Amino acid sequence: MDIFDIQPQKFYLLSPKKRTLIDFSTADHGVAKEIDQVFDSIKAIQGGNIHAVYCYYSQIIEVMQKLSDKYKDKYPNVQQLPVYFKGFEDGDYFIRQRTNVSLMDLKRSVLETESRTLGIDVRKADNVFVQNWGRLYLSYDTFSFGFLTDKVYVGEKDKSKRICRFCKGTGAERYKSISHALQESLGNHLLFAYEECDICNNLFSNNVETPLFRFLEINRNLSQIKGKQSAIHNQEGLNFHIHPDPVTKQPAVYVKQEHIFNDLYQGKLTGKIHLYNNGPVSYQGIYKALVKFAVDMIPSDKMSHFVRTGEWVHGDFESNDLPPFLYGEQYTFFFEQPVLDLFFKTEKSPAFSPYCTAVLYIFDSIFIYILPYSDYDSEFNLTITNIISNFEHFKKYEYIYVQEWVEYDSNDTQERAAHYKIPILGINGKYSVEYRPSYDPIFEINRDDKLY
Ligand SMILES: [Zn+2]
Repeated sequence: MDIFDIQPQKFYLLSPKKRTLIDFSTADHGVAKEIDQVFDSIKAIQGGNIHAVYCYYSQIIEVMQKLSDKYKDKYPNVQQLPVYFKGFEDGDYFIRQRTNVSLMDLKRSVLETESRTLGIDVRKADNVFVQNWGRLYLSYDTFSFGFLTDKVYVGEKDKSKRICRFCKGTGAERYKSISHALQESLGNHLLFAYEECDICNNLFSNNVETPLFRFLEINRNLSQIKGKQSAIHNQEGLNFHIHPDPVTKQPAVYVKQEHIFNDLYQGKLTGKIHLYNNGPVSYQGIYKALVKFAVDMIPSDKMSHFVRTGEWVHGDFESNDLPPFLYGEQYTFFFEQPVLDLFFKTEKSPAFSPYCTAVLYIFDSIFIYILPYSDYDSEFNLTITNIISNFEHFKKYEYIYVQEWVEYDSNDTQERAAHYKIPILGINGKYSVEYRPSYDPIFEINRDDKLY
């Protein structure tokens, strides 16, 4: 868009509920002026032409509806406005932002709406974000997927021109469905991969993607993440079951009281217990699922540097020289829709940086990992010293506070029960915890899985 365009025909509307690009472009600039006037007529609590913060009140949707009714025959796109405000309640914050802003400013605005909603100090949160994420943004070629509520499709649109990023398969008949870059059951409703063929999609959903799902499954169920079906989840783990509470409908965790595993940190009880999931996973399995997701989202012009990465995910070769990955939990924001940030090395990046570092925000978890096998990486970037320096760098500048980072060995193929820590008494308003003997009828499904 031309920055001299005084009446741009696109803008973002950003709120914790919806974050979307509103585009009503027409050759004659149709309704641009009227839309501007309508936004001028509603009260902004802050800002002006480039960036304005509003607090929703019910007349707003009425004004938008009126505008839409007046112009929808001639300019159907104007109907996006009342649709956007559907479901808003008095007091909800939203921001109107021009499109000629950087990714960083757009993400700052999204953070601002979240901070206002959570009652966090907006200026402080913004400052932390700019000093940290902003620093990464300025020294890498940065991409962020999933933070707007619009669907994102990466890769070649034309089916007949697609080459699968994993098996190199071609031909339109190989691309009948569109692959989720990360499975829907983990809350991904927005990120899609054009260049993952149907065969690989099937193959991955039956093996590559499972370990990450198992690793996050307890968290997912306690958070009532919606997959394809309803958000009411039942789960039978090794030392627990999760069922909806008959009254509150919230998840209830039933823990077998002979199998309580208290969490310790530096020798002291933390007030948490461990839940062990069925379906053993290996750290290498989790890492491979993380890498697969990132490969799907790599911008097309960079994909030629990750050919071997795709081959490794596909299973073309085995490896025992993979870089470790980091896992942490945070309690500030909740990512129901996962957000993936990709940072590609530039001449401004620290010398120790590998070509691509990924940061995945999912639920209350954060993963930091390196994409392996890029032809841009020299042996130098991938020495363990440099990998550790890179992780320290990302831990330092990742913008959400994480108390405890855990480093996992991606070369570890040993299968274990995935576990998740929860507070002994549950979390008020989110899920409850009850302790019952193993013979209690609630555990009535017979399993002979072992705990380790
Ligand atoms: Zn394929």
